[in-house]
Amino acid sequence: MKIGLGWNPRESAFRVERSLPSSLPEPPIVISFDVEEHFRIEAAANVTCSTDLRQVYSDRMDASTRRLLDQLGEAQTLATFYIVGQIAVTHPKLVKDIAGAGHEIGSHSWEHLRVHRLNPASFREDLKRSIGALEQASGAAVKGFRAPTFSVMKETAWVVDALAESGLRYDSSIFPVRHDRYGVPSAPRTPFVLLGNQRQILELPPATYRRFGQNMPVAGGGYFRLFPLGFMRAGIAQLSERAAPPSVSMLYFHPWEFDPGQPKLPLNRLSRFRTYVGIGRSTARLGRLFERYSGRFRRAIDVVEELEMRLEMLPRFRLDGENRGTESPG
Ligand SMILES: [Zn+2]
Repeated sequence: MKIGLGWNPRESAFRVERSLPSSLPEPPIVISFDVEEHFRIEAAANVTCSTDLRQVYSDRMDASTRRLLDQLGEAQTLATFYIVGQIAVTHPKLVKDIAGAGHEIGSHSWEHLRVHRLNPASFREDLKRSIGALEQASGAAVKGFRAPTFSVMKETAWVVDALAESGLRYDSSIFPVRHDRYGVPSAPRTPFVLLGNQRQILELPPATYRRFGQNMPVAGGGYFRLFPLGFMRAGIAQLSERAAPPSVSMLYFHPWEFDPGQPKLPLNRLSRFRTYVGIGRSTARLGRLFERYSGRFRRAIDVVEELEMRLEMLPRFRLDGENRGTESPG
């Protein structure tokens, strides 16, 4: 991916921010967490993990999520938590406490299988179980979904109808980037109506920064931990540039990314680097985001409720279609 090349993200973010008319309310930013035990990550799909080690990760997931809840509370910030359904069974109190603090509970599937590993029937079953368990533990309705490893892609286009049929109000699983594991580079960078064969659903794509004709995945992950925070800020500034179509900066994190003391999984060199780089500074960085953008954070469902009133302003996009004219600005 082309980055660097003498470009200073701090300067660029500053320049874009200056061009915003001061009278317009600034578009919202969503802090989202994909809650899963560390052994469930896609990079560890072929790693065998002992029952004892799984338990260690399970306990640590609970503890790091609670630290995040404290940090959010101190910053008076509400977030969205996409939680693996099985966690609602093993840690019902955690799910209840997240909802009790006012955060949104969304589904991150039942057992964290990529959509590619399911078919329409088994996906529906997986989603139904996940929503049922999360609603039971939280006492709140689940309205949003994030697929494990952003696995809503061209080859899993059938999933759109299943998501809409399940009663969900929105999805946040399409990353408009080119990546070896996920991504739909032609998808709009701002919220859009995702068209299935029979039905449609509102999509909130994670934040990207468009530069050199490419979308960079600045919403979280390695970009958050490895590169200067200026990359994420540049993405937020660029997505905030224009009033139409409506935009949102959807950011994503995982509780295990805030746990530098956890035992490391035996991953290959590249995955090890991607997974653990910068973990020691994540908590401080999140704090800097809270400070920098204080007042702009919203739960995904709150953004969705506003967007539902302006659906006609949003681009429409089909995963398996030509999609001429749906390119978002930038
Ligand atoms: Zn996940």
